Amino acid sequence: MKKIIVLGATGSIGKSTLDVVSNYPEKLEIVGMSAHKNGDKLAELGLKYNCNNLTLTGCENSKNNTINFYGPTQLLDMIKNSGADIVVNGIAGSSGLLPSVTTIESGIDLALANKETMVMAGGIINNLVKEFNVKLLPVDSEHSAIFHLLENCEPDDIDEVILTASGGAFRELPIDKLKDVTLKDALTHPTWDMGAKITIDSASMANKGLEVIEAAQLFNLPADKIKVLIHPQSYVHSLIRKKDLSMYAQISAPDMKLPIQNALFYPRMERVESTFLDLTGKSLTFTEPDYQKYPMLELAYKTLELGPKYYVAYNAANEVLVEAFVAGEITFLDIPKITKLVINSDIILEPSSIANVLQIDSNTRKLTQELIGTKI
Ligand code: NDP
Ligand code: MG
Repeated sequence: MKKIIVLGATGSIGKSTLDVVSNYPEKLEIVGMSAHKNGDKLAELGLKYNCNNLTLTGCENSKNNTINFYGPTQLLDMIKNSGADIVVNGIAGSSGLLPSVTTIESGIDLALANKETMVMAGGIINNLVKEFNVKLLPVDSEHSAIFHLLENCEPDDIDEVILTASGGAFRELPIDKLKDVTLKDALTHPTWDMGAKITIDSASMANKGLEVIEAAQLFNLPADKIKVLIHPQSYVHSLIRKKDLSMYAQISAPDMKLPIQNALFYPRMERVESTFLDLTGKSLTFTEPDYQKYPMLELAYKTLELGPKYYVAYNAANEVLVEAFVAGEITFLDIPKITKLVINSDIILEPSSIANVLQIDSNTRKLTQELIGTKI
């Protein structure tokens, strides 16, 4: 039995992870779960999966007496004391960073959906993975694809990696119409069913921007070896081009159960029925993203030139701006506009420790709020 903790059990990644566990009851066991505010759902999942290590991070108590831990610090204690073999981190946003660090420092393998962990602190995380001799298994579908494609590839033999992108909700919308889009428009993803933040990030392509940074950190690649192509069908999850210039792709029906299950069984594999794809009659198309239409993607590449402290700033600014967009305080186009101002500001602190990373994150949030307040 592999013992699993699911962080963010009530979310989209959490649901897919629990579905995988339900398919393999004789091989996989849940020994801990977390949610932020949704105590009722967490308690229900605890009963269903017979798990009594439950943490609600966003509340101090609840009417559900089966929930035994509250707040972010108790979540870290739960991870440390759980006896888990692997943690699936499906927390949304920068709050996923410290649980990732604690997982690794507790000698537990990490199946990482929370891309913010690598964006904010990829260098530190890579060092910790070596020091504590654990596995870091990417769950973001593009990075999982690349991880598996690179397995039999020497670093010198990689010519480039190609991340595919659906193009999000506004793929077909002319650039001059973006100024009028609403929150409801941005929440409509053409191919994936995901949480609200990542769906809005897909519409602005900040999600792909974060993924470009994530790929640079995970696979130790410079910006010019990471390319993005829009692939509306979402069948090709990513590609690598090798030194001989031939390309290799991972292709399946879009379903997060594939990368999650591959992480849980790594280095072995089991069938994932829902990812079966018959290619007969299917068209696969690829186009260059329009960097003018998607400035968040261009800004992410710019951070790769500027260095890791700007990855933290990019992520923090975007998180604050997406929240402001959801609250109706700014327009969709204010997201790249204000992020650009943040990226152009001076950041003095280096992200050489987790404490510094959190300080840069906090300073950037403050600056972004100020910029929102001045109505730019
Ligand atoms: P959801 O919004 O669907 O779920 C987020 C989960 O995290 C919920 O369980 C939520 O609890 C919990 N949570 C929210 N805020 C906090 C917080 N401050 N501290 C601790 N827990 C919190 O998100 P997704 O599942 O879509 O995404 C999760 C992560 O996985 C993100 O980093 C995303 O980029 C990444 N990812 C997601 C993919 C997908 O297909 N969804 C694909 C690839 C990567 P509650 O329900 O109580 O609010
Ligand atoms: Mg992805």
